[in-house]
Formats: sequence, structure tokens, C-alpha cells
Amino acid sequence: TASPHLQGSQSVATGPKSHPRLEIRNIHRYFDGRAVVDDVSLQIQAGQVTCLLGPSGCGKSTTLRMIAGVEMQDSGEIYVDGKLICDTMFRVPPERREIGLMFQDFALFPHLSVADNVAFGLKGSKDEKRLRVEELLQKVSLTRFIDDYPHQLSGGEQQRVALARALAPRPRIMLMDEPFSGLDNRLRDGIRDETLTLLKEEDTAVLLVTHEPEEAMRMADEIALMRGGKIVQQGAPYNVYTRPSDKASVAFFSDIN
Ligand code: ADP
Ligand code: MG
Repeated sequence: TASPHLQGSQSVATGPKSHPRLEIRNIHRYFDGRAVVDDVSLQIQAGQVTCLLGPSGCGKSTTLRMIAGVEMQDSGEIYVDGKLICDTMFRVPPERREIGLMFQDFALFPHLSVADNVAFGLKGSKDEKRLRVEELLQKVSLTRFIDDYPHQLSGGEQQRVALARALAPRPRIMLMDEPFSGLDNRLRDGIRDETLTLLKEEDTAVLLVTHEPEEAMRMADEIALMRGGKIVQQGAPYNVYTRPSDKASVAFFSDIN
């Protein structure tokens, strides 16, 4: 009959209520009575890269660590797909947050092969793990190193293995803290582009911390500009770059370039 059909098309038109993949609301963190993260709120959709951009000491890493769950906020809430994972009373432990991490000095395990490094966080049968490892190593063009050890790889190659390892368990969220700052200038742009391509193929929401406007301009769908513990402006890279909201932001963009 017509009525179920009508109901069906209505529900498609309205869509199910969808939540951002990651949402943080009014997060605060104090050290010695000083707010180093001061009322930060953010939403990131799956498939999106948001760059938290700001000068050294403005609270970027502290924000990331609270989302990862290795540090506790003093107030505020964190939601994943609309589900509360952390407030001041309740806390999902870091290992159950389905978050992938990548830091500048987030080293590979030296005693494990490239394959075993990538497989490290994976569950499932041996065959399933092997398939996922091969898929990711192919995506980062490192299949030929599958049985090698980290010390046999260049810095850029190790970085790509680290990315493959972080993405292997299909994290809901990827948190990256200045992941390219240890790399040679010559390599950096290429690795940024490759990383972005790979991130876009995986169904994950990315929060990338950087103090380099150039990196944010290159990689972000959205930039959240942070200073003194606060997000002072947020929007598309072009808009933030061409219309900084105040003099301090203008200075930040022009100092570095
Ligand atoms: P960013 O990553 O933007 O450089 P951080 O989040 O690392 O900034 O640090 C923000 C501020 O908080 C800095 O002034 C830093 O010294 C301070 N801070 C960070 N962690 C601690 C801590 N565990 N104890 C005291 N102060 C801290
Ligand atoms: Mg930092």
C-alpha cells in the first residue's frame, strides 16, 4: 500500500538524527590555578580533518590528551557518535575509546617487523590480520618492507608505517600531534599529501594539532585557531587565513610565513 512507502520516503528525506563523530563540549583544564584549556568546544564529522592550530604552549596537546583519555578534564564532556565517553563523573578508559594516535616521537616497536608493528592493535584471526596489514602497507606503498625491521627504513617510511599501524584497527577518531615535525623538510609535503589521501579513505574523524599555518592550510577541512587556551576562530582554511579575527591572529599567521 501507499502508506508504508510514504513513511519510508519521509524518513529518507528527514534522515536519521546524526551526531558528529567527535564532539567536545566546554572542556576546561587547570594547572596551578591557570586555565591552560579554557572552555574549548569542537565538533568533527567522520571523513573530516580539523586542524587545531596555534602557537606553542596554547593548550593544543593538553586538549588532545583529554580526548585520548590519558589526561582528565576538570570540566566539560566528550562524546563519540553522540555517546558520552567522558565527563567528570564517568570515563571510558583510553584503550576502549577506538582512537588512533600519532605523535612526532611515537616510535615503532624496534623488535617487531613492519608487519607485526601494523598488526599490533588488531584483533581477529591470523588471516584477517594479515589481510588488513597487507591492505594498509599497500596503501602506504611499503609492501616490499613487510618483513623488514624499523631500523632498515628511512624516517619517512617509518612515519608511514606508524600511520598504517594507527589506522589498522579502524579507529573512529585519529588524533595526530605535530606528526610531521620530526621529518626532513624535503619529505614533509609529500608525506602530508599521502597521509591526507589515506585518512580520507578511512572512515575516521581527524584532529591534527600543529603550530604551522602552512600545514593546516594544506591538510584541514576546518581550522580551529587556538590561543591562550581558547579557540579564537574556527572555519574553512581560506576564511581563517584571509580574515583572521583579530590582530594577534594576523601576527601569528605573518610571523611564521
Ligand atoms: P601546546 O601543545 O599548544 O604547545 P600544551 O597543551 O602542551 O601546549 O601546554 C599548554 C600549557 O599547559 C603550557 O603552558 C604548559 O606548560 C602547561 N602544561 C601542560 N602540561 C602541564 C602539566 N602536566 N603541569 C603543569 N603545566 C602543564
Ligand atoms: Mg604540543
